[in-house]
Amino acid sequence: MTAPWWTAADQAELELLWAEWVDGAFEHRDRCAACIAHERVYGKQWCDALRESLEIVLDWRERRSLYSYVVEMRRLQDLADLKTEAPGSTANRTEAA
Ligand SMILES: [Zn+2]
Repeated sequence: MTAPWWTAADQAELELLWAEWVDGAFEHRDRCAACIAHERVYGKQWCDALRESLEIVLDWRERRSLYSYVVEMRRLQDLADLKTEAPGSTANRTEAA
């Protein structure tokens, strides 16, 4: 993830989630009759439940990226608003109090 709003905390959370998913996926594949049957017939196919669990991780990554984008855009807008505030404006009066 190279987006400038993707933070180190976002990356750390994704890495943790990904590590947990990988561990769970290996454990699942060893025990799941559907995965074992799919592998016999198709090679490295996954059952629907395993595929859906990966989609949840990928969906989380997209939502987290969108959330961090919104937070960063708000921060930049607030900073721009502060720079353009006229002396005596509400923001400046509050700051001076
Ligand atoms: Zn399975």
